[in-house]
Amino acid sequence: MGNPKAFLEIHRQEAGYRPIHDRIHDFGEVEQTLSTRERKLQASRCMDCGVPFCHWACPLGNKAPEWNDALYKGDWELAYRLLNSTNPFPEFTGRICPALCEKACVLNRFNHEPTTNREDECAITEMAFQEGFITPKTDIQRNGKKVAVIGAGPAGLAAANDLNLMGYKVTVFEKNEAAGGLLRYGIPNFKLNKAIIDRRISLLEAEGIEFCYGNAIALDDLAGLEKLASDYDSVVIATGTPTARDLKAPGRELKGVHFALEMLSQQNRVLAGMEFSKDERVTAKGKDVLVIGGGDTGSDCIGTAHRQGCKSVTQIEIMPKPVEGPEDPQNPWPNWPRTLKTTSSHEEGCTRRWNINTLEFLGKDGKLIGVKVQEIDWKPNPEGGRPIMVEKGKPEIIKAELVLLAMGFLKPEHPEYPKNVFVCGDSANGASLVVRAMASGKQTAQKVNSYLANK
Ligand SMILES: Cc1cc2nc3c(=O)[nH]c(=O)nc-3n(C[C@H](O)[C@H](O)[C@H](O)COP(=O)(O)OP(=O)(O)OC[C@H]3O[C@@H](n4cnc5c(N)ncnc54)[C@H](O)[C@@H]3O)c2cc1C
Ligand code: SF4
Repeated sequence: MGNPKAFLEIHRQEAGYRPIHDRIHDFGEVEQTLSTRERKLQASRCMDCGVPFCHWACPLGNKAPEWNDALYKGDWELAYRLLNSTNPFPEFTGRICPALCEKACVLNRFNHEPTTNREDECAITEMAFQEGFITPKTDIQRNGKKVAVIGAGPAGLAAANDLNLMGYKVTVFEKNEAAGGLLRYGIPNFKLNKAIIDRRISLLEAEGIEFCYGNAIALDDLAGLEKLASDYDSVVIATGTPTARDLKAPGRELKGVHFALEMLSQQNRVLAGMEFSKDERVTAKGKDVLVIGGGDTGSDCIGTAHRQGCKSVTQIEIMPKPVEGPEDPQNPWPNWPRTLKTTSSHEEGCTRRWNINTLEFLGKDGKLIGVKVQEIDWKPNPEGGRPIMVEKGKPEIIKAELVLLAMGFLKPEHPEYPKNVFVCGDSANGASLVVRAMASGKQTAQKVNSYLANK
């Protein structure tokens, strides 16, 4: 710890976002950066606690006190080495991690001004790339064994990276035309520029990982999977959660009702240069948009709708409004507070409503024109478990020509696979976070290694 009193003298400073009028018309990253001096001052606020709750809260076990200290002292290379010792791709988490560590930071308990770990992580990694501290490792000793990884999302990439560095020959099979999973085809460019993914994939390729794109492996074809498992020493399944939760209300078939990812992935592809016919295009341009689902995917739809030129956006959620303010009495520090979150996309303009149930999609000539909704309430269930929904108020109609369903994803079910097949990331645990997917990928690489070592 460079400056033991820094947390008393220096306030938390976030880099903040580009002004709304500047960012709303483009898909460039919204987050700004601090100057090098300001960044080091932020790092100096870390108190190097005896019990680092940040380290406990981070699924990767990132050593924030250690790399914050190196950053404060200006040793960017050491800071990166420490960061990379637990986090294979800190340029991703540095941009889009909700930073479980910061909520668990003792300074959050003290005065709600935790360290800026996520931004520090991003700054360290960008400096490391800029200064040439990150170069491909080309002297990896090969052990003669080969592993197939199915899925090139953060879980598959983390597993592939660790296995490759352990000496396995790794081939990644990916159904899409490029790597990244939801990093590339879910998260909008205004949160994560896709050149950041390309830069890391080039490194992984230079280190010997082979990527086979446009290669969907049929997981329900057990015979095919068994063949793959016999062709390779081990197989890692990291295929995410491909099935979005649907809302089967009357009128679901109307033109204009889409899953969130239909819009988000298409927009990211458009920005990557792909073309779609007018009929295929899912766009908010000139439309009143209704986002159903109050979570982060819904928020990404709001930011995308603005950039596409929507007329208005409303976001509805069936659950009650979360508590406001920094503290969640139901889930106190150092746990993650389930409090109201206002993202950069919400700031750009949006009507947000809670306790709203969707009754029917309304259409004219096969096209969506509005959605019938009703305010509801939740009553405690006398038998315990999920509260009971009760109607409140009269049904009303929200005008909308585009509805985006952002209600989460179904957890995949897996049959019993051959013993040398392992499942990781969202595919194993259900929809979660990039940092959790990466941690799961790393743990699975260890399992594969132990299995093959003991075989
Ligand atoms: C819109 C959206 C925004 C999000 N924003 C954030 C955020 O800001 N921060 C955060 O931490 N998390 C966020 N998440 C969650 C995060 O993206 C996921 O938890 C994470 O990407 C899961 O990683 P994964 O590798 O397990 O799966 P995925 O990222 O889903 O990757 C799975 C990969 O497997 C491939 N695949 C699937 N089936 C096959 C097959 N049969 N054969 C070959 N390949 C296959 C897919 O094409 C994909 O590339 C967001 C999710 C969404 C949907
Ligand atoms: S990966 Fe996320 S939780 Fe872990 S240290 Fe970085 S910002 Fe914090």
